[in-house]
Amino acid sequence: MSKFASFINADEKFLIYSQPLLELKEGEILVKNLCTSICRSDLHTYQGKRIEKSPTILGHEIVGVIEAFGPNASLNDFNNAPLKAGDKITWAIYASSPEDEFSMADMPQKAKDLFKYGHEKITDTSHFHGGLSEHTILKKNTLIIKLSQDLPNEIASLINCSVATVAGAVRLAGNIQNKSVSVYGTGMLGIIACAMVSKMGASKVIAVDESAERLEMAKQFGATEICLPTDALQQKVDIVLEFSGANEAMQNSIRMLKIGGVTIWIGAVFPQSDIPINAEYIIRNLLTIKGLHNYNNEDFLNAVNFMEMNYTFFDFEKLIKKGFSLDEVSEAFEYAIAHNPFRVSIHL
Ligand SMILES: [Zn+2]
Repeated sequence: MSKFASFINADEKFLIYSQPLLELKEGEILVKNLCTSICRSDLHTYQGKRIEKSPTILGHEIVGVIEAFGPNASLNDFNNAPLKAGDKITWAIYASSPEDEFSMADMPQKAKDLFKYGHEKITDTSHFHGGLSEHTILKKNTLIIKLSQDLPNEIASLINCSVATVAGAVRLAGNIQNKSVSVYGTGMLGIIACAMVSKMGASKVIAVDESAERLEMAKQFGATEICLPTDALQQKVDIVLEFSGANEAMQNSIRMLKIGGVTIWIGAVFPQSDIPINAEYIIRNLLTIKGLHNYNNEDFLNAVNFMEMNYTFFDFEKLIKKGFSLDEVSEAFEYAIAHNPFRVSIHL
């Protein structure tokens, strides 16, 4: 038996059930979940700002330990390290066929047969695929990486959404060394971005946010300067990483760039109105705008390496409100909405 929180919709929310685990199929691995952090997109679903097929099991920022291997499951991780029961692992949010045309083009998160943890409907044959559950059944073709046992669970849970997405944004931005970087929006992803680009040798890291409290936090994670959105246009930088998803922020990000600059848009993952863009300004200033949704295999690997190397350098634990159990999942979501901490984690 395994306990899980079934999510119906924004009106009916969570119901806690215990059901027998499904028998493992070809290539599957059973994981005992240790900790799940509530991502912003989980909150959007909970509040009805985005709609998932339901009933579903939300939660995709997860860390767990291997409990059992299904028939012909891989016994090695993405780094070719051997896997065994009891190993602490993280896994990519997506499972998709490596032969898919988008997977082959390094965009596995857009493959046609995409399976996405924390976003799938519970059916008779597909179950235990989200983090608000005692177990996850990992599908064949899931990218798995073994973690150091010392990496605290709350921090490890951030890797497969927040950290990997930031790693993707940084990859798209190109060489960071000696570049001035603005991080627009200092929620969890923005804070991680400050930490990552500062470690990669950015000459300046300018955090932009309307919250003085968040800007103060950004300084503790590598930001060298802080700035309110109302003053953002006074900055001129090589790179803007836009995590807020606000219309004004994306427009500002273009005007903040030096000649030849690049802005990466990551935040706007909820319904948006169109924004005006001046084509002549972009052409004459040789600017680049790129969008990023989720991340690819390389980003995931870079995210693991970044956290393994830096979790003692930056105090990520102070960003996480701990102490909720699976039975308290509704309280945890209500707390996250009312108090807006960087992350709330559920212990499983
Ligand atoms: Zn997420």
